[in-house]
Amino acid sequence: MANIFRNIPSVNQLLESPQLKKMVDKVNHQVVVDGVRTFIDDLKEKVHAATEDIDIPSPSDMAEHIADWLTREDQPVLRRAINGTGIILHTGLGRAPLCKAAIDEVASISAGYASVEIDLHSGQRSQRVNAVQKLLCELTGAESAVVVNNNAAATMITLASMAGGKEVIVSRGQLIEIGGSYRLPDVMECSGCKLKEVGTTNKTRGSDYANAIHEETGALLKVHPSNFEIVGFTATVSTRELVEVGKKHGVPVIDDVGSGALIDFSQYGLADEPVVSQSIADGADVALFSGDKLIGGPQCGIIVGKQKYIDAILANPLMRAMRVGKMTLAALAATLKQYRNIESAEQSIPLLTMLSTPAANLKLRGEKIAAQVNGVGCIGQCEVVESRSMLGGGSLPTQELPSYSVMISVEGRTASWIGQKMRDSDPGVMGRVQKDRYLIDMRTVFPAEDAKLVSVLETLATAGTGSAGS
Ligand SMILES: *Cc1c(COP(=O)(O)O)cnc(C)c1O
Repeated sequence: MANIFRNIPSVNQLLESPQLKKMVDKVNHQVVVDGVRTFIDDLKEKVHAATEDIDIPSPSDMAEHIADWLTREDQPVLRRAINGTGIILHTGLGRAPLCKAAIDEVASISAGYASVEIDLHSGQRSQRVNAVQKLLCELTGAESAVVVNNNAAATMITLASMAGGKEVIVSRGQLIEIGGSYRLPDVMECSGCKLKEVGTTNKTRGSDYANAIHEETGALLKVHPSNFEIVGFTATVSTRELVEVGKKHGVPVIDDVGSGALIDFSQYGLADEPVVSQSIADGADVALFSGDKLIGGPQCGIIVGKQKYIDAILANPLMRAMRVGKMTLAALAATLKQYRNIESAEQSIPLLTMLSTPAANLKLRGEKIAAQVNGVGCIGQCEVVESRSMLGGGSLPTQELPSYSVMISVEGRTASWIGQKMRDSDPGVMGRVQKDRYLIDMRTVFPAEDAKLVSVLETLATAGTGSAGS
């Protein structure tokens, strides 16, 4: 055993190797030293733990291995991915891709200094939200607006500012959870409000709210149950009706509309998505929504509504902890500007393009890809099959769009093996495994990515020829 340890080179010996000397030019000297130390420590531990003799690689092989490892560590932390899942607002893949105008604006604004909190014309200090406030008011009909880090933050700061220490009345059918970490009762507790549930899971009436109001009531909260549907014997209270109850008792109404549709999405086959301007027209005191769902912009939470409530939110110390940076403001402003001309928005905002593309186009693109890889290397019969895309991002799972998927099979391999290879490729491809079939849904693949997808599949065609199980 002692002999084996003698075969392990020293840190300095390894640092002298040509492979690692080259690395020092690319990354910090200390990073290379740490990498070598970690490798040697791991190796020594392995030797200690081993019950029989183990092979010690040659110093040159070790250096090669460490250099590879450091190179991989040096790659960007976030990797580009092709979304073949058919889930348009895939939270795991970063929800809405930005439009070109937003990307250009972010690049330009973040490269230098910008008028984030100074009005360059007057030279006076201004609120950072001013950059987007006017656009938000124009598109929603609200008096004022403010932007925070996401809709969860919007909910928290709105509740804390409008009803902190008081009771907030919510329908039992709207106490939602969105993706594990967002649970409305928990958000409410964090914001210092007391939750007062009214009604039942399936039915809540205006009188339920009215009967629960007393001097400790701070607000009435309506939440769009984005990701589930209660069907059958049901009753909900419309924003307009809730506003009437609130007005009668002098209690403000907060409307969490969720996805933040600025236009009517039923034209794209998505029913039941509340439009923000409608909520404001119906009299909601404030409406809350995400920036990276149906707006198709950057991650942020948007609050629009009456001036006095927006002012209270701006004055809340939590605002400093939740405010957005210049890149978000720049991207949001550029995205919102697209909505001034809805026809061109369909061309410029990727989310709207994906939603409005006819399924027949997706079929054609899928067939072109399939024809290029069908039977190549180890790829078997490659077919284009009908599939269903989903909006995702906490929206209704029942809201589906007709689509087409390229179905890939590899001789002697499972669909999950293909999935692994595709995710490990560059760019990583996220597909869908369904009944042990591997599918790439064309609705969420950008046309400009089709060629890349073909080259990734060509690489797969050679990878699969190795022995099974490798
Ligand atoms: C998505 C959603 C949220 C959470 O929004 P994030 O921007 O993800 O924080 C809150 N409420 C509703 C109704 C939603 O749909």
